[in-house]
Amino acid sequence: MSRHGARHARCAAECSRCDAVCCRLTVVLDDDDHVPEHLTELLPGGARVMAHGADGWCVALDAEHRNCGIYDDRPDTCRRFVMNGPYCRSVRSEHAARGTIPLLLR
Ligand code: SF4
Ligand code: SF4
Repeated sequence: MSRHGARHARCAAECSRCDAVCCRLTVVLDDDDHVPEHLTELLPGGARVMAHGADGWCVALDAEHRNCGIYDDRPDTCRRFVMNGPYCRSVRSEHAARGTIPLLLR
């Protein structure tokens, strides 16, 4: 783990101090989700997912404010993603350790 990553691992995860790392993950949509189709893509296997931009983040992310641009209509998977939960902490640690795109630690 990098020095940045070690420091990062000691901090409780907060969305207000995060670069929306979870919005780089693959979000699979289901029939109960109502996301505008132009924000989604179909994988070769047939699953519909949130589309990603060239920067790696979900295209629905408000890049300036680092929050969800479709918050009221965000997919169920995103609603169930728990801040500072095990998965959140895991993806943040991986992202910080990789060091390719620095996490914001404000
Ligand atoms: S849920 Fe976790 S990974 Fe996602 S924005 Fe919040 S702190 Fe970052
Ligand atoms: S829909 Fe919103 S919360 Fe879900 S990955 Fe995209 S930007 Fe993040």
